[in-house]
Amino acid sequence: MQKKYLIANWKMNLSLNEAEKLSQAIGAHAAQISNANLITILCPSFPWLYSVQQSIASYSPWLSLGAQDCSAYKNGAYTGEVCAQMIAEVGCKYVIVGHSERRILNHESSNLLIQKLEQAYINQLTPIYCIGETMGQKSIQEEILTRQIKDIPVSLLSQAIIAYEPVWAIGTGVTPEAPMIDVTLNLINDILTKHKVTSLPPLLYGGSVNSQNIEKFSTSTISAGFLVGGSSLQAEAFSALMTFMAKVNI
Ligand code: PEP
Repeated sequence: MQKKYLIANWKMNLSLNEAEKLSQAIGAHAAQISNANLITILCPSFPWLYSVQQSIASYSPWLSLGAQDCSAYKNGAYTGEVCAQMIAEVGCKYVIVGHSERRILNHESSNLLIQKLEQAYINQLTPIYCIGETMGQKSIQEEILTRQIKDIPVSLLSQAIIAYEPVWAIGTGVTPEAPMIDVTLNLINDILTKHKVTSLPPLLYGGSVNSQNIEKFSTSTISAGFLVGGSSLQAEAFSALMTFMAKVNI
């Protein structure tokens, strides 16, 4: 049976105390659900990684730790950067690479993302590679997605998880129609195949997913789960998504 993913991107939110409480609540819920097929990944901000790792340690069959980014560099004089080795050492198994907020606010280029992906693999981290068009790029969606995929060497994509996140749907409450998500994930699959990615990566959708709309977004035959921002910040809201994912057959 295909693995399903539910990824919580907490972004730059939550106090330490809130992050610990939330991870314990999510851990307890994961244990209650006890679904080995559902991989739930918590991505707190860097300073909270260690504490969250401690909080979820006893729930490790169901919960994993991820970072929201990693440095493109191995180590050295890069003030403020956090390298993939440090992220792996603190207990992360996953790292988000190419989130649109970083592509836009930090002007992250494909070349930089390639270096980040390389660092992730060198340190046994599975990258969650984000792609997606902005509102202004809607009419050239295929071109944008093709570029975001083809800029990356095949070897760096075949072991990744790919999250399709239309930028205009992130944090806005505005989402694509469910059939369009399926169409776009199939398009991404085709682009990956043309790019000669032979073992096709799990494809996720992200953008304003919540407990009210997750069901209709789960009709895609090709989706392997969701990357969630806002709705991952509260135990009740995120637990509802976990409960749904555990029982749905996607
Ligand atoms: C995200 O930032 O990856 C995301 C999907 O956020 P939200 O769920 O809040 O749209």
